[in-house]
Amino acid sequence: RAKASGGNRFELADAEADARAITRHGLTTALPTALERGEFFIEYQPLVHLGDGSVRGAEALVRWLHPQHGVLGPDRFIPLAEHTGLIVPLGRWVLEQSVRQARAWRERHEEAGPLRINVNLSPCQLTHPGLVQDTVDILERAGVEPDALCLEVTESALIGADDDLLKPLRRLAEMGVDIALDDFGTGYSNLANLRRLPVSVLKLDRSFTQSMQQFPADPVDLKIVEGIVSLAHSLDLAVTVEGVETGAQAEQLRILGCDTAQGWYYARPGPPERLHELALVDATG
Ligand code: C2E
Ligand code: MG
Ligand code: MG
Ligand code: MG
Repeated sequence: RAKASGGNRFELADAEADARAITRHGLTTALPTALERGEFFIEYQPLVHLGDGSVRGAEALVRWLHPQHGVLGPDRFIPLAEHTGLIVPLGRWVLEQSVRQARAWRERHEEAGPLRINVNLSPCQLTHPGLVQDTVDILERAGVEPDALCLEVTESALIGADDDLLKPLRRLAEMGVDIALDDFGTGYSNLANLRRLPVSVLKLDRSFTQSMQQFPADPVDLKIVEGIVSLAHSLDLAVTVEGVETGAQAEQLRILGCDTAQGWYYARPGPPERLHELALVDATG
């Protein structure tokens, strides 16, 4: 009996693996037409200043409205797009849309200060030779200053990065584009390496925010975050925290000296109109 049910479990596992592989294959082949047909859309999640609760900008997060499967999150298709190279035109599209959106916000909300847009970059986009020129063209076409843009690169994408890989990021940083190190603290964070990277923002991974669940949080985690924040500030880097879901987390992270926060406590990712509303009011109010 045990053997038989064990066998069934394996068959079931195989069937699930097959189904996943079929979906993956189906999604991969559908990606190029999806871009042509305009099935991708972007949601924006506000970045909120921890000190005064004001909205300082938003991160652009891409979604796919698939005709059969409904809305798919980036974790479902970004790896496939990276694998096939479609990430380059898709990433360019995300950048163009987001930069245009930044212009619209800046025009409508001058009183809110210079709102910024954060856009995620894949490792493949980093090594693509057109990155700098594409970015310059997109900013010019939209009539947007480079300081309205922050490009997010994961720490793991820059692990062991040589100067060739860093060159385009340096050029962008010199132009005034901010570079953020995304999901910081999840990889083998090489703190000494930070000085070498042209980054101006550290985005502390959600796992740190989660460990701030209790108030007061675990003393060791507090020390770690405190250490990262003080190192970041001494290197002139701003610290953004991801995944803030409760007021207690926000308060703890504010006390620890983090500058900006992002998370469901303030707002879920949503359509661009949401940000017009949020920019006008205190995000926590
Ligand atoms: P990320 O850049 O670290 O983005 C933050 C993720 O955390 C987003 O997931 C966001 O919806 C989610 N999040 C925000 N606040 C909270 C919270 O309070 N609690 C929890 N549990 N989650 C929260 P999402 O939208 O599924 O994106 C996943 C990842 O996909 C992103 O992680 C980013 O690495 C990637 N991604 C998204 N858009 C793009 C894009 O246009 N290009 C590339 N290359 N990657 C993208
Ligand atoms: Mg990001
Ligand atoms: Mg992140
Ligand atoms: Mg993350």
